[in-house]
Amino acid sequence: MTILGLDDTDSREHGMCTTYVAFQITEKLQDKSAKLMLIRLNPGVIHKTRGNASVALSTTCDPKTTFDIAVDVVNELAELSDPTTQPGLVVAPNTFKDVPESISEFSLNAIRSFHEKETAIDLLTENEYLYKSWNGGRGLIGALASLGAYNALDDWTYERITYRDQHLWGTIREVDSSSVLEVSNQFYPLVWDNFDKKEGYPVCVPRTPCPVLYGIRGENPEIVTSVANKIKSEPSIHSALFTTNQGTDAHIQPGKMGSIEEGKSYSIDGMVSSSPYTIEGGHVFFKLKDESNEILCSAFEPTKHFRNHVRNIDIGDKITVCGEVAQGTLKLEKFAIRELITTKTKNPICTICNDSMESSGQSQGYRCRKCGAKKSDKIQVPYPRKIHIGWYEVPPCARRHLAKPLIRGGFDSALHPER
Ligand code: ZN
Repeated sequence: MTILGLDDTDSREHGMCTTYVAFQITEKLQDKSAKLMLIRLNPGVIHKTRGNASVALSTTCDPKTTFDIAVDVVNELAELSDPTTQPGLVVAPNTFKDVPESISEFSLNAIRSFHEKETAIDLLTENEYLYKSWNGGRGLIGALASLGAYNALDDWTYERITYRDQHLWGTIREVDSSSVLEVSNQFYPLVWDNFDKKEGYPVCVPRTPCPVLYGIRGENPEIVTSVANKIKSEPSIHSALFTTNQGTDAHIQPGKMGSIEEGKSYSIDGMVSSSPYTIEGGHVFFKLKDESNEILCSAFEPTKHFRNHVRNIDIGDKITVCGEVAQGTLKLEKFAIRELITTKTKNPICTICNDSMESSGQSQGYRCRKCGAKKSDKIQVPYPRKIHIGWYEVPPCARRHLAKPLIRGGFDSALHPER
């Protein structure tokens, strides 16, 4: 068996898609048994390609033939005129299961942390893998990481990608949104994140000039294929099935506020220490603290009505937050309410006038403005809440590729899923 890893063949400006390049390699290999994997890497990497996707494939063709054909396809299809497109190609005489542990560790780090290209080259040399790089070859990191993901992870989902005919690339896509909505409803929750119902938006149809017409995500290969085939669209002849770490939270690691690092994604427990506030542009922020530190958490405008859930939390609530730390804030992907405060302290009420008393100054107690009656302490009043115990998440239109939709299950509390 032979396995191949590929990364960074696309360009933000000019298009292309590494999944398409890999699919074309399988076409040229003429191996119907070839299997494709789409591996999403750390979304916090600064020099990432669109969506930070790398692709791996396994084939029964021999390593040398596979390598030569892949080099030709990359030369033909990769956006090499864009200097920021830095393809990397790796071929190994292995199955995914036989990849050494050092490469599985490398993969997990590429999904949760960072790597230098030199680390990849050291591992490639040590294992005597065939490799080639273009334009500086930063893509070697993702190409190698894609080979170790199978052993590094244990939760897998599927995406069926339908490609556009080449003469249509860059033109407006013709996909019937209502057919996407209909099949998304019919097969929910076995397929997810293909249509955002509240925003009325077909999330499965990209807006970039790439070769992808649409990609259907879900729990098993048969269902995503069946759903993809039911969508009404412009004619297309090519499609491919990918096993993927999308929708698995593979990027999230448990963290403590005192030791979090920029560009990594965490799950952190804490107590809300400032009320949520909204700034110009509609972005919502609040602070969260634990015994070690305090951090700022954010829900940006594109997360839409998720921000209303965030606005409903308050000082003293105990919550778990998940997301990437960037520019000093944790960008919320989901959060869980663990404990809600149910009372609030207020100034005492005058027993005679039934009015709220005012403070007489620090440690001076409270005084009624009308009759002058005095009381020494604040009172506790019930605080009805608009949010419940359990997990809340951003809607599909704002979901990161790696973020696990709540509807997939496996969470430790009640679920409030978005669809
Ligand atoms: Zn009074």
